[in-house]
Amino acid sequence: MDYDKLAELLFPEIDKTPADYEAIYPPRHGASDGAIITRLGPSPTGFIHLGNLYGAFVDERLAHQSKASDGTPGTFYLRIEDTDDKRYVEGAVETVIRSLGFFDIKFDEGADCEGKGTGDYGPYFQSDRGPIYQAFVKDMIKKGQAYPCFLTEDELSAIRQEQEANKETTGIYGKYAEKSRSLTYEEIQSNIESGLSYVIRLKSSSTKEASTSDKIAYEDHDGVTYIVIQDGIRGRVAMPANDQDIVILKANGIPTYHFAHVIDDHLMRTTHVVRGEEWLMSLPIHVELFEKLGFDIPIYCHTAVLMKIDEETGNKRKLSKRKDPELSLDFYRKEGYHPQAVKEYLLTILNSNYEEWRAANPEADIDAFAFTTEKMSSAGALFDLNKLQDISKDVLLGIPAEELADFMYQWAAEFKPQAAPLLEDKDYLSKILDLGRHDNKPRKDLIYARQIFDFISYFYDDYFTIEERIPEQVSDEDAKEILKRYLDTYDHSDDQSQWFEKIRTITADLGYAVKPKDYKKHPEEYKGSVAHVSTVIRIAVMGRSQSPDVWSIQQILGEDRVRDRISQLI
Ligand code: GLU
Repeated sequence: MDYDKLAELLFPEIDKTPADYEAIYPPRHGASDGAIITRLGPSPTGFIHLGNLYGAFVDERLAHQSKASDGTPGTFYLRIEDTDDKRYVEGAVETVIRSLGFFDIKFDEGADCEGKGTGDYGPYFQSDRGPIYQAFVKDMIKKGQAYPCFLTEDELSAIRQEQEANKETTGIYGKYAEKSRSLTYEEIQSNIESGLSYVIRLKSSSTKEASTSDKIAYEDHDGVTYIVIQDGIRGRVAMPANDQDIVILKANGIPTYHFAHVIDDHLMRTTHVVRGEEWLMSLPIHVELFEKLGFDIPIYCHTAVLMKIDEETGNKRKLSKRKDPELSLDFYRKEGYHPQAVKEYLLTILNSNYEEWRAANPEADIDAFAFTTEKMSSAGALFDLNKLQDISKDVLLGIPAEELADFMYQWAAEFKPQAAPLLEDKDYLSKILDLGRHDNKPRKDLIYARQIFDFISYFYDDYFTIEERIPEQVSDEDAKEILKRYLDTYDHSDDQSQWFEKIRTITADLGYAVKPKDYKKHPEEYKGSVAHVSTVIRIAVMGRSQSPDVWSIQQILGEDRVRDRISQLI
C-alpha cells in the first residue's frame, strides 16, 4: 500500500504537518524546569460538579505552587472538550468559570466567556481544532499507523455478538481488525466514491521495541506485555498494553476523547494530567498513542472517585447526579456555603496530612499548605456533608462579621431577592452575626447562608413569626401577666444584671422558682421556674424558645421593636 497516496486520498485539504504545529506551539518556558502546566477539560454540559472542583483544586494547587528555577510560574488553563456536540449547553463555559471562580479557582489561560480564549496555545475549544487533529491523523496514515474502517453498525454488532458468545474481549483487534486493515487502496477509493461512511482507527501494535520514553516501562508476565508508569497519585500502575484498534477520528471528522487528549495535552504542553479515575482504564490506549506519535508523556494523576455513605443502606457508594444534590456545585452557591469552608473541607479529603497541618497552623492562609499528590488517597474519597458543615462552623467563626454580612447580602441578592433589601443594613446585620462569637466558648450555629438567614430571621419584622407555644407550666393568664409586668418595668438602658433582676422579681411575685433547681426539688411548691418565665419572654421577642442571650438580642433589636413585640403578644 502506498500510504502517502492513501493519506492524500483521505485528507486532500490538510496541508500542515505535525512539524508545523510543533513550531507554532513550542515547549513552554520553564516547563522542563519545575513549572507545572495543568488544565481542566470539562465538556460543556452546563453541569459542573464536586468532582470537577476536586480535580480543579488539584490542578490549581499544582500549577500555582510551582515555579521554574528562574521564577517562571506554572500555568493552569481551561480547555473546553466539546467534541460531542450533542452535549453542548448554551452558557456552559460561563458556568464553569463562574462556578470555579466562586471557589477562588482562576485560570491563567484558555477558554473564556468573551470568545475563543486567551493564550498562545489555543484554540481552547476542541471543536475549533479539527484541522490540527486531522494533520496528525494524516501523518499517522502516512506512517501506516492508522487506517480507514468502513464497518457498518450491523457488522460491528455482529462482531460484538460473536465475541460475547465466545466470551472474548469485545472491540476491534486481532482477527476482527483484519478485514479493515487489509483493504486495498482501490477498495478504499471505491468505498469513498460510493459515499460509504468510515472512521479512522489506530493500527495497534506493540510499542515496546520502539519506545523512546523513560517514563514508560514494559514488563512481560505470562506472555502478556504490561505497560508500567508512575502515577502522581497512585504510584506504580501496571496494565496490559493496548491491542485495540480504537477509533481516533469519528465519521464526522471529529476526534475521540483518546486522540484529542493526546494531541491537545502534547501541543498545549501539559506536564500533569489530573483526571478522574474513570479514565485509568484507557491509559494503555493513551500510552500507545503517545509512543506512536513520539510525544513525551505527561505525568498522570488519576484522582479517586468521590463516594458517600448511602443514608438508606449505610454502604459506601459513588455520588450520584440523580440522588445527591450536593454533587452539583450550584448546590453550594444556592445554599450559601462560604467558599472558604468548601475549600477547607475539600483539602481535608484531598490530603491526608491537611487536618494535622491546620491544627498546627490555625490562622494560616489555606494557600500556605504544601499540597502534594502523594498524600492523596487513591481509594474512593469519602464526602460527608455533615463534616463540611462542622468545618463551616469553624471557618465562619474566623471571618469578621462585616465580611460575613457582605457575603450574606450577596447571597440573598441572588438567591433570596425578597429578603435582600432587609440585609442592606450592614450595621444591623453585622451586629446580629457577631452575637456570641467573642465569648470564651464562641457560638457555632452559623453554617451556611440559607440556614443563617432562617436562624436570624426574627430580627426582621417581615419574617418574624411566633413559631412556638408557651411552656405548659405557664397558664395563658400568667403569660399575659408576665409580659405586662415585663413591659411595665422595661428599661432599654438597663444593663444585663439589672435586666435579669427584674425578671427574677416577676418570677418570684407570680409564684415561680427563681432557681430552677428549687423547682426541680420541690415541684409542688412552684408553678414553674425562671426558665419558663424567660421562655415566655423569648417567645414574645424572638418567636422561639431557643436563641442567643435575650438581653443582647434586645439591644440589637432596639427599644421600639421590643416593646412592639411584647405588646403584640399581650
Ligand atoms: N472531558 C473529559 C471529562 O469531562 C476530561 C477528562 C480529562 O481531564 O482528561 O471527563
